[in-house]
Amino acid sequence: MKIIVLIKQVPDMEKVKFDKEKGRINRASAGTEINPFDLNALETALQISEKTEAEVIALSMGPPQAEESLKEAIARGAHEGILLSDSKFGGSDVKATANILSAAIKKIGNYDLVIAGIQTVDGDTGQVGPEIAGCLGIPHISNVECIKDYTLNNIDVVSNVWEGLYLKRGKFPILITVTKDVNTPRLPSFKNKMKARKAEITKWNFEELKEILDETKIGINGSATKVKKIEIPSQNKRDGKVYRDNDIYISEILNVLKENKVLQ
Ligand SMILES: Cc1cc2nc3c(=O)[nH]c(=O)nc-3n(C[C@H](O)[C@H](O)[C@H](O)COP(=O)(O)OP(=O)(O)OC[C@H]3O[C@@H](n4cnc5c(N)ncnc54)[C@H](O)[C@@H]3O)c2cc1C
Repeated sequence: MKIIVLIKQVPDMEKVKFDKEKGRINRASAGTEINPFDLNALETALQISEKTEAEVIALSMGPPQAEESLKEAIARGAHEGILLSDSKFGGSDVKATANILSAAIKKIGNYDLVIAGIQTVDGDTGQVGPEIAGCLGIPHISNVECIKDYTLNNIDVVSNVWEGLYLKRGKFPILITVTKDVNTPRLPSFKNKMKARKAEITKWNFEELKEILDETKIGINGSATKVKKIEIPSQNKRDGKVYRDNDIYISEILNVLKENKVLQ
């Protein structure tokens, strides 16, 4: 059995700053980490692998430094890491990203299960997983919050869609996207950290995928959508005044509430 886990390296959103002039995230302003939902995707794969001896391959598209995230995935238990990196991939929108990742999945071949996070904490569209399933022509189940059972042929999951819980069975090959409720990701073990240090991350650029990847459907020129501007929403300043517990203030508070139309 072969499981491919999609791992995106994202900036630490608590610390990242926005470049107001260019309307972009200033990625140099903060450290990076594995997209938190992708840690749940990896943990799902590792738990299945423990019972089935499935091979777990972590796959990422990103700049060369995304190699660190793949090493971390190996430190957490993945068997192999593949990084898709090329200047031709830069500026890809979600569909172009899905085109590139699905070409790599086709090149890996013979996969049973592809697991993605439900969304990222930076782009946050939640589209990449289902779009990859579309490109590969395989079914997908999104919003998976519990893995109920699996065999070598299919998987039973609980999918939470608009607060409705659906028990679904998917036949391999299939793609699922998982929520944070599906499990608690493990930490890297000492043994796997040592393994990750020595691990060679496989790197594929456009040349390695060109037989199955259309150059006109990737990168900024192959993207149908364009980010025109990113704006930071202005935060409403709150006015506050403290009234101590004293009866004479009650009428004053009532007046303030009436003036602001909180009370009629
Ligand atoms: C016009 C345009 C230009 C852009 N230019 C750039 C740019 O120059 N640089 C840039 O960094 N971003 C750029 N982006 C953002 C980029 O398209 C998204 O980061 C990317 O498509 C993933 O979308 P998302 O973050 O919404 O993923 P989601 O759909 O929210 O992610 C769902 C899951 O898909 C998987 N996944 C998503 N992305 C990857 C990945 N790269 N590798 C592996 N797995 C992944 C993960 O498992 C993730 O949890 C651009 C977007 C647009 C629209």
